[in-house]
Amino acid sequence: METANSSSGIFRTTSDQLAETAMVVGMKSSASSEAVGGAETAVTLSRRASKRLTAASPGRASSSNSKNTHIRKSRSAQLKLELDDVNSGAALSRASSASLGLSFSFTGFTMPPEDMADSRPFSDDDIPEDLEAGTRKMKIQAEPTMPIHLKFTEVTYKVIHKGVTSTSEKKILNGISGCVNPGEVLAMMGPSGSGKTTLLSLLGGRLRKPTPGGSITYNDQPYSKYLKSRIGFVTQEDVLFPHLTVKETLTYAALLRLPKALTKQEKEKRATDVIYELGLERCQDTMIGGSFVQGISGGERKRVCIGNEIIINPSLLFLDEPTSSLDSTTALRTVEILQDIAEAGKTVITTIHQPSSRLFHKFDKLILLGKGSLLYFGKASEAMVYFSSIGCSPSISMNPAEFLIDLANGNINDVSMPSELEDKVQNSGTEGRKGKASPAVVYEYLVEAYETRVADNEKKKLMIPLPIDEELKAKMYNSRKEWGVSWWEQFSILFRRGLKERRHDYFSWLRITQVLATAVILGLLWWQSDGDSPKELQDQAGLLFFIAVFWGFFPVFTAIFTFPQERAMLNKELAANMYRLSAYFVARTTSDLPLDLLLPVLFLLVVYFMAGLRSSPGPFFLSMLTVFLCIVAAQGLGLAIGALLMDLKRATTLASVTVMTFMLAGGYFVKTVPVFISWLRYLSFNYHTYKLLLKVQYEHITHSINGIKIDSGVKEVSALLAMVIGYRLLAYLSLRRMNLR
Ligand code: ADP
Ligand code: MG
Repeated sequence: METANSSSGIFRTTSDQLAETAMVVGMKSSASSEAVGGAETAVTLSRRASKRLTAASPGRASSSNSKNTHIRKSRSAQLKLELDDVNSGAALSRASSASLGLSFSFTGFTMPPEDMADSRPFSDDDIPEDLEAGTRKMKIQAEPTMPIHLKFTEVTYKVIHKGVTSTSEKKILNGISGCVNPGEVLAMMGPSGSGKTTLLSLLGGRLRKPTPGGSITYNDQPYSKYLKSRIGFVTQEDVLFPHLTVKETLTYAALLRLPKALTKQEKEKRATDVIYELGLERCQDTMIGGSFVQGISGGERKRVCIGNEIIINPSLLFLDEPTSSLDSTTALRTVEILQDIAEAGKTVITTIHQPSSRLFHKFDKLILLGKGSLLYFGKASEAMVYFSSIGCSPSISMNPAEFLIDLANGNINDVSMPSELEDKVQNSGTEGRKGKASPAVVYEYLVEAYETRVADNEKKKLMIPLPIDEELKAKMYNSRKEWGVSWWEQFSILFRRGLKERRHDYFSWLRITQVLATAVILGLLWWQSDGDSPKELQDQAGLLFFIAVFWGFFPVFTAIFTFPQERAMLNKELAANMYRLSAYFVARTTSDLPLDLLLPVLFLLVVYFMAGLRSSPGPFFLSMLTVFLCIVAAQGLGLAIGALLMDLKRATTLASVTVMTFMLAGGYFVKTVPVFISWLRYLSFNYHTYKLLLKVQYEHITHSINGIKIDSGVKEVSALLAMVIGYRLLAYLSLRRMNLR
């Protein structure tokens, strides 16, 4: 092995990998000898494979720390599998030609990709980074993908804008037609604001109001709820939990989303497969991260988002700008992954903002949008031919994607002008600068050109029914919602996920310090106070009222954040039918309880004994229970306000007003309240808590303190219990309403 090391870097990698492979499969004792032998037999294959390993990610092979060994190990395990199933020269040449076809670098626009690929002699030294995706086939799905052909004709979409005095209508899409088949990648291009996201959401069934015009069919059938579980939708923003690791994120998604037929182990295996498939093994134990937490890189985040969707083996995969904000190599890799996904029989539709020329040639079909109108639909490789046929071709060598976006923007600098357009400009006299047509004129010309030359033909093609069997069509009708797991399992998975996501909160020293500091200050101020004399009893009542207020305030303001903070995630997961809202609601509202009930225990332990309140176990535990009840009721209020408004600013404003009102109505500051407003105190949990705390401390001494009567306490407990349930019900209904909207 040492000699091999010095003679050839590639060979070293290969044999190392094989040694590791051997170890992985449990042949520890004879690892090195087997490895050398293995290296000889597999050398033809693994030269390429090892280059893949080194080229795929710059950091992967260069350093030699333990992390890297781990990666190589996992990679080599995968390599072994590939050796098994590739295992022949034929496969190798297939793989290499595939990778060549994908990997040429294209900067001009005149030569179609096929020619280019053919004209290049094969050489093992073209290591395009693409090798990784070029030779790799998706092999995660256990069940075959159901093929779905997507067709859309004359799709229009408009929104009605209601102003103060008038209502205006805004057309966002004007009659877009096209189709995509399983195995194809359709790219939508166009300048920002041209309607890409809108069209993508319409096709993905994510935008249903106001109802779009035209028709969108899936295997010639309209949208049905059944499709929800067959569609993967990757939104432009990455919506992920920042404190979960990559592996946890994908595992929870697998557990929740995969059908009941699979066992827990199979679901977990699927998550691992996806991790390997997307090349995420290096960061699988890293936290996702967010604005305040260090985490994985942008490209990795995007892949996690894609993983979240392909884990269900969707038939249709929609992606909104998956490559924006990625560097060109990472973008290329992402698109290659999409290509692999399509090759596995899925229909992939993606919007793309500004692809590099290499990226552009990876798409099968292309839609070019400009201000909501269709400028081109057809094979991506024929787009340039079409535009030159209508007289638009670049006069200098440029990236075809750049050229198309320029055109869609109506910018025809460096573009040869079609004669028709020149005539038009001269006749109308509406010349822009330097005798060029203005963007609006160019745009009009392009829309018209497409409509007159291509549109009718394409629409006729779309009218032809698909040659698929009725069974497949009938499946689309099935509108029953199917859940991956039962309600209880959903609850328990969400509960565990909630605990994991917020585990850092549980050891939040800030919160603990805040509570303990307040407790110590209270303890010092009321140091060993005595409840026997009437004057000191007044003082102690003040302490009890403060406790009621403190534990009314604190939980409201922490609970307010719960739903607004998770809004994006909730929307995303509910749109994907991941779980029942009720399971989420119960899991989310109970997973924070342990900590919320731990803090008051600490607090009371300090205050109760420092301030010298009634010292016997009974009153202590009853006080504790009262505080618990107050906390849970106050939390309910916070949850309800948060869910009702779903906006932190508005929610905090409303909460501070409400909490202040409840505090003032709590019975400590004002005793003679006018009758017409005195009912307010019955809504105040501070009032009920205060009364109960007084009862626990003084029922053996007096029957009335500060004008507050001490009675059985049943009313107070019932009122608090009603609040615990009522506010939560209100919160749940608010969420439901948000979901329905
Ligand atoms: P793209 O994704 O191509 O940048 P979008 O599909 O997001 O474009 O938007 C297309 C146009 O439609 C934009 O001008 C946008 O402002 C407008 N638009 C989209 N949705 C709405 C809406 N609900 N109300 C008003 N205008 C909208
Ligand atoms: Mg967009």
